[in-house]
Amino acid sequence: MRYPDETCSRVSTRGLDCAVIFGFLKQRRRRWLQAQPFPKEWLVTIERNVLFFHRLSASDQVELLGHTQVFLAEKRFEGCDGLEITDEVRVTIAAQACLLLLHRKTDYFPRLLTILVYPSTYLAEDRRHVHGHVWQEGKMARLGETGRWLDAIVLAWDAVKSGAADPSDGKNVVLHEFAHQLDYENYAEDGAPALATRDQRLSWQEVMRGEFASLRAADETGIPTLLDTYGATNPAEFFAVSTEAFFERPRALRTRHPKLYAELRSYFHQDPIEYSAE
Ligand SMILES: [Zn+2]
Repeated sequence: MRYPDETCSRVSTRGLDCAVIFGFLKQRRRRWLQAQPFPKEWLVTIERNVLFFHRLSASDQVELLGHTQVFLAEKRFEGCDGLEITDEVRVTIAAQACLLLLHRKTDYFPRLLTILVYPSTYLAEDRRHVHGHVWQEGKMARLGETGRWLDAIVLAWDAVKSGAADPSDGKNVVLHEFAHQLDYENYAEDGAPALATRDQRLSWQEVMRGEFASLRAADETGIPTLLDTYGATNPAEFFAVSTEAFFERPRALRTRHPKLYAELRSYFHQDPIEYSAE
């Protein structure tokens, strides 16, 4: 695929700020990518694998496909443990990740360069909160991971596919890991993504602090919860788990956690109840 040349060395000699020029050219290239015809075979893959796509409005579908074009042009994929990176792998991951970008000004997960994909659950050293002061350590099975200091996301392909095939079970490893990337956009890993105003930040802090404390308390006393109790690990996991519930169980989340739902709706500029299969 050809797109406009965007090296900035030539224009920087005019005395203009290179970062500004680079930003302008990046935006121009992205608009160009968004406007390209979406490959038919990619669309067939999305329609087959990513079930929430059918429930989006026509304008949201167009926006999602545009974001997917940019995502696929900018991110690198690597297969692990023998997994071959096919267009099906790339498109199925990209379309789900880009649901998080609809209706918002976005820089396309700017801290992320590479997506590593294993065929299925993989083992990694981990330390996990079990209950109270009890932590489990050792090799544990993982569906995915990312980190503030990594420029990568790791995903298990079978979990990616099963998450996309059931858009209302509250579990989606792609939404979870890419929510972490949104969290990192303000250079912190604290469960608070980049929010535009001081009022938004204060409101977010107040609501999330209360909801996180409630989930921790429920986890320790064994009370059943809508949110995955993995979210009780820390505020960053709480945001990732809440994002999964927001997109996959929006009605239940709004009923049982109305303030949390309202904060997420305000941040994502979306109301998934409008298109949920729940
Ligand atoms: Zn996580």
